[in-house]
Amino acid sequence: MIRVSNIKVPLGFNFGDLKGLCFRQLKIPEKSLISVKLSRKSVDARRKNDVHFIVSVDIVAKGEQKLLKQLKNAAPIEEFTYEIPQVTVEKSPVVVGFGPAGMFAALVLAMAGAKPIVLERGQDVDSRVKSVKNFQSGGMLNPESNVQFGEGGAGTFSDGKLTTGIKDKRIQTILKWLVEFGAPEEIAYLAKPHIGTDKLRDTVKNLRKRVIELGGDVRFEAKFDGYTTDNGCITSVSYTDSEGSHTIETDNVILATGHSARDVFEMLHDKNVDMSQKNFAVGMRIEHLRSCIDKAMYGDFAGHPALKAADYKLAIHLPDGRALYTFCMCPGGEVVAASSEEGRLAVNGMSYFARDSVNSNSALLVNVTPEDFGSDHPLAGMYFQREIEEKAFIAGGTDYSAPVILVGDFLEDRLSVEFGRVQPSYRPKVKFTMPQDYLPDFICRSIKAGIVEMGRKIKGFDDKDAVLTGVESRSSSPVRINRGENLESLSVGGLFPCGEGAGYAGGIVSAAVDGMKCAEAVLRRI
Ligand SMILES: Cc1cc2nc3c(=O)[nH]c(=O)nc-3n(C[C@H](O)[C@H](O)[C@H](O)COP(=O)(O)OP(=O)(O)OC[C@H]3O[C@@H](n4cnc5c(N)ncnc54)[C@H](O)[C@@H]3O)c2cc1C
Repeated sequence: MIRVSNIKVPLGFNFGDLKGLCFRQLKIPEKSLISVKLSRKSVDARRKNDVHFIVSVDIVAKGEQKLLKQLKNAAPIEEFTYEIPQVTVEKSPVVVGFGPAGMFAALVLAMAGAKPIVLERGQDVDSRVKSVKNFQSGGMLNPESNVQFGEGGAGTFSDGKLTTGIKDKRIQTILKWLVEFGAPEEIAYLAKPHIGTDKLRDTVKNLRKRVIELGGDVRFEAKFDGYTTDNGCITSVSYTDSEGSHTIETDNVILATGHSARDVFEMLHDKNVDMSQKNFAVGMRIEHLRSCIDKAMYGDFAGHPALKAADYKLAIHLPDGRALYTFCMCPGGEVVAASSEEGRLAVNGMSYFARDSVNSNSALLVNVTPEDFGSDHPLAGMYFQREIEEKAFIAGGTDYSAPVILVGDFLEDRLSVEFGRVQPSYRPKVKFTMPQDYLPDFICRSIKAGIVEMGRKIKGFDDKDAVLTGVESRSSSPVRINRGENLESLSVGGLFPCGEGAGYAGGIVSAAVDGMKCAEAVLRRI
């Protein structure tokens, strides 16, 4: 098989006619072509008067060696097969947390015949959707099942973006499995794939069903709260559910509890588990009209039926050494209430597969380093986050209304009094507040300076009517649970800190990759 990359095609191209592309554009003789499949598709909008697609195709043909010489940008490819060893176990490994890291760890262990037991503090996805809807409609926050906690983890109520900065062969396998479990087939070839919260919910459910079919045991509303060791190695874990406290004897635990399980960080610290401080970022969500972002990115091609809502990525390095950058951009998406603790407010962004909501949003973040925490306590970054979230809760009026301000007013240092063209999407409610009431000065200063710069890069980014919603405080983990080369905790044998909460991933795909790596490490130890 050979891959031909970097082929320019117009927006109106008929993707059902890839063979035609091979005959006409690549001049491959009709009789030698056996099969062709799309392997990558991206939008090139660098020149606003010539927006088009750039694609790669994977071709099986007679005389591939000759084609390799004849075609520009052609290279041989081999499909990667993910091999899973088969094992028999006396004691099941335990996976704590059923977010992307825990799900893919459990899947690999189940495929290996290791019969994992999964403990997830939140609800199954259908019950979780009800809890989240209730909270967004002004009901009570369920601290155990919300946008951070529950089946599918933090990613379930997300944009479901599958872009990642890491390179790892396992990513192909993750995308393939996600498609098998119901994700749209296009994620296998889009340069910037995304699933959307609606399709993610079914995908996650189907993955769970497969784990159970393969002998795994998935327990919801089962909160991990402790473990025992002997000679420095894990011997059991304990958890609590509606029926009381339970113990599971085990030699291997994958701890994939995410960055919001602050009680888990505290428990590990009390048990002297080796952890360290880590950089993260804090800021606000910025919301524009989707039509304005589409126009700024696609020019006159905005609204073309072949184009989806436009995304962007911006970064500004400020003179004081700080950086302001956009993160987790959600085209045609919504700002969501992402709190998981009572009396603390956090926001994030999500979208549906269609990405057709009125607004587009992204996080506008400033990097925060241990020097900002004012303490060398390993959990100081977490306490820093908590303090900001508490202030945001109070600034919003203590009923989970999010503090908001218009960009124009923020730049002029005055409180907003009414919305302009952009209506905020956050629910249940919002309240006009000065960001200085809940964010440290250096973050406000950096955002202010950076927005103006960003407006020079994307027309209208500094639109006075754009809405800033706070506070985006959970962009990544404030803590790293240190592990050795075998991926075990430096303090506890058989304990595998995993995924974003452990500080080894940032996003759905990298968390899933880390879950697979930890499962492989457990299989080597069994
Ligand atoms: C609203 C939102 C939108 C996002 N959008 C994107 C996106 O588009 N693309 C992207 O790549 N990333 C996105 N992210 C980030 C992404 O979701 C995370 O990086 C990813 O989910 C981390 O995976 P994880 O498995 O390490 O942890 P998590 O997903 O946080 O999963 C941890 C799980 O552990 C469970 N848990 C915690 N404590 C316990 C306990 N004591 N006992 C039992 N279970 C426990 C939790 O309930 C949770 O289900 C988004 C995050 C949010 C909140």
